[in-house]
Amino acid sequence: MASTTETLDDYQVVNGDSSECDVIKLKITTEWQKIRVSENQINISNNEIIKLQKQLYRTCEHNFKRDSSAMSDDLFKYKCTKCSLYKNHYN
Ligand SMILES: [Zn+2]
Repeated sequence: MASTTETLDDYQVVNGDSSECDVIKLKITTEWQKIRVSENQINISNNEIIKLQKQLYRTCEHNFKRDSSAMSDDLFKYKCTKCSLYKNHYN
């Protein structure tokens, strides 16, 4: 009978731990889900920004000036003073 009691005690301890572990695991899963939702929102916003920059590039009457911060081998040496986009970036 002692072994049965031990087993029951063990079961209760394990069950208690497991239930607490389940709560913690659920909290972790919830936080991961928040990260995934946030990452998805970042992707949506990034795509929206690119779309808007393309639209801005087509709409702006550019005034390109050489970008003083650009390196000599930089592909995008000219930046618009009005829209801050680089020349030919969206061509
Ligand atoms: Zn411009």
